[in-house]
Amino acid sequence: MDFSIPPELNDLAARVRRFVDDEVIPLENEIDVEAGDIAAIAELRAKAKAEGLWAPHLPREFGGQDTGLMGMCLVFEQAGRSLLGPLALNCAAPDEGTMHLLLMAARQAQLEQYLTPLANGEIRSCFAMTEPAPGGGSDPTMLRTRAERRGDSWIINGDKWFITGADGASFSVVCAVTDPDAPAHSKASLFIVDTDNPGFRVVRRTPVMGSGGAGGHCEVELNDCEVADDAMLGGEGEGFKLMQVRLGPARLTHCMRWIGVAQRSLDIAASRALEREAFGGTLAEHQSIQWMLADSEMDLYASRMMTLHAAWRISEGDQARQETSACKVFVAEAINRVIDRSVQILGALGVTQYTPVELFFRDARAFRIYDGPSEVHRMVVARRILRRAADGRQATGLTGVAGGLVGE
Ligand SMILES: Cc1cc2nc3c(=O)[nH]c(=O)nc-3n(C[C@H](O)[C@H](O)[C@H](O)COP(=O)(O)OP(=O)(O)OC[C@H]3O[C@@H](n4cnc5c(N)ncnc54)[C@H](O)[C@@H]3O)c2cc1C
Repeated sequence: MDFSIPPELNDLAARVRRFVDDEVIPLENEIDVEAGDIAAIAELRAKAKAEGLWAPHLPREFGGQDTGLMGMCLVFEQAGRSLLGPLALNCAAPDEGTMHLLLMAARQAQLEQYLTPLANGEIRSCFAMTEPAPGGGSDPTMLRTRAERRGDSWIINGDKWFITGADGASFSVVCAVTDPDAPAHSKASLFIVDTDNPGFRVVRRTPVMGSGGAGGHCEVELNDCEVADDAMLGGEGEGFKLMQVRLGPARLTHCMRWIGVAQRSLDIAASRALEREAFGGTLAEHQSIQWMLADSEMDLYASRMMTLHAAWRISEGDQARQETSACKVFVAEAINRVIDRSVQILGALGVTQYTPVELFFRDARAFRIYDGPSEVHRMVVARRILRRAADGRQATGLTGVAGGLVGE
């Protein structure tokens, strides 16, 4: 086993780190990320392109750096140290996930019409799966949004909410039921819907805890929304399969960016601990502060290892469902612990807006809910453990499901 990092990746990650430190962080208080105004960061994006840092995840033919999923672990962490970083490099959610989905499922004409401008940073996208109750949320098989065939078109009707980036997006990938009588996981299909379609309406940005991100988290109404047959992404009934294609790696890329945020919180807390004095010495001299710092370091170490391993499993061609679920739960909870400890070490300063940690704290909470709440991923992980036990199989590999440590 070899954990050494290829020099070119180390170099790219170091250059992204410098870019975020020198160019992005100084602008954090000047640019309103929530406005979703791409023009506001045009200069920053031009610099990222000029320095060969643009869209690290994309193949070179789409202007990216072709890092592969494991390389993304290193580079996205550095980009993630500022909430503005991924946007500056065009590797922010949800666009990065949409780009991946289009690469995997789009036809040539769809690639040209949607992926090319998205990859160039000319437009934004959104992904519309979740519905308000009683529709599909944690359980996507409860989807109610319906697409019905009419001649050469599909007519889509339904309500979505929490659609990140919808306000100002140029197109949305919409998940809708195309065959209610099909087996649960073959009922739905994906459609690319232009947001200027008269049947697509952003009702409002839902007010949320945290910054909301570019374009907010929106309620969306599809009302007799007519799209041509060729708006379908992938095949009919492939909606759930393709959602997994999108969400598997997307869960990991969220982990990568959040590890960067949490590391920066820890760095800020550690610097403060060295300066601030209380009870006859610096905070850093008190053992309980040292333990908080050490616990955060360990949380981040484990988070990085799990993310890298899950990324490696996907790179090897496996869906890595057990690994991505375990990783998503662990990292979402670990980064929340790290940021919470950082607030504690900062004391009152931690709840002010004089450091970014306060915003990180508010933004990070939702990561335990989106892309599958912790409880649902724990359920998925436990199911495999129980299946294994019921079949009398041994645990194999680092996650107990594969990889050849025992008997393979
Ligand atoms: C900031 C943010 C951004 C988002 N962006 C998008 C987006 O761009 N596109 C999109 O489609 N969706 C998006 N979502 C929606 C997100 O994916 C859903 O919130 C998530 O899937 C959970 O669905 P729900 O909120 O309807 O929870 P519900 O289904 O109502 O579940 C509520 C709670 O019940 C518990 N629970 C559910 N199932 C189980 C179970 N089996 N066992 C035990 N407990 C359980 C969990 O604690 C869960 O949090 C976003 C959400 C947030 C918060």
